[in-house]
Amino acid sequence: MILSLNPTYFCNFRSGKCAETCYLTQEQLSSVQLLPIASIKERIEELQTRFSLEHIDLYGGEITILSLDYQLELIAYLSSLNIPVNLITNLSNPESPFITHLPRHFTLSVSWDYKARQAYQKVFEKMQKLEVGFSVLSLGTQEFASFDPDEVLALLMELPKLQSFEIKPYNQNQSNRQSFGHKDYEKLIQRYIIKYEELNPGFRFVNIDLLKMTLDKTKSSWSDQHIYLTPGNEWSVLEFDQAGNEYFKKIASLDEYATWAQSEKDCYTIDPHCKICPYLGHCLSEHLKPIDDFNTNGCSGFKNLIDWYKTN
Ligand code: SF4
Repeated sequence: MILSLNPTYFCNFRSGKCAETCYLTQEQLSSVQLLPIASIKERIEELQTRFSLEHIDLYGGEITILSLDYQLELIAYLSSLNIPVNLITNLSNPESPFITHLPRHFTLSVSWDYKARQAYQKVFEKMQKLEVGFSVLSLGTQEFASFDPDEVLALLMELPKLQSFEIKPYNQNQSNRQSFGHKDYEKLIQRYIIKYEELNPGFRFVNIDLLKMTLDKTKSSWSDQHIYLTPGNEWSVLEFDQAGNEYFKKIASLDEYATWAQSEKDCYTIDPHCKICPYLGHCLSEHLKPIDDFNTNGCSGFKNLIDWYKTN
């Protein structure tokens, strides 16, 4: 089981460019609600009674701007679990103990979308100075797609400790609805794969790793191994509303989570496109979205991209 742990949604980058594409609303990004560490402990113990906890993704909001006491207590608790933890940060505070004292089984990811993101130059300079290995996560939006992959990859090659780079898919959500669909994302990733293979930089391109995992069926596209814990101490999952907007759906209990995850499988195994798809259960979807018009829009599992990669 992967736990996405969100102790806060509060973010210091909430009034800049990031908010134009962030899946959290302004209200959430401005909320100072903070999940007490005692509640995190209780919830993780509860989760471990039902599932084997393999990995924690820790993000907000922005974790590194929380009070020093809170950060230290959280580090101490998460370290004691001996489970891999990935901290995702905007790197506005490289002095955070999460970064200066990164524990052995923790990894670090920096969200950076080049000019599509607030303070991109300052954050780039901070990434250049990092003394620990890290990965860069970029969001595949319309603006990010307007940048030349040559330029972006050349910049990333100037980061001495960069270990990997990944472009995440953008989903329209309850806060913003950019017109950048599945097919646009597929074209974006194709351009980056071609350029990455030409340049052969010294870091991994995770999107290629995921494509390989899809083809050898080691990647799962089901949501039955991924749950979120919100700042309000609620279990939740990422879901789409009737208008196709991504949002956090609150889940009352782990029983309800198991039922919801099963209903996802039931739904997509009878979907006319998915049920005949060779990648069912292993495609690139982070959470499956109903397919409205495959020929026009493609699908959230990015079947066209997988087909392209397989034959190239
Ligand atoms: S790739 Fe698309 S069609 Fe295939 S299973 Fe995934 S969502 Fe369904």
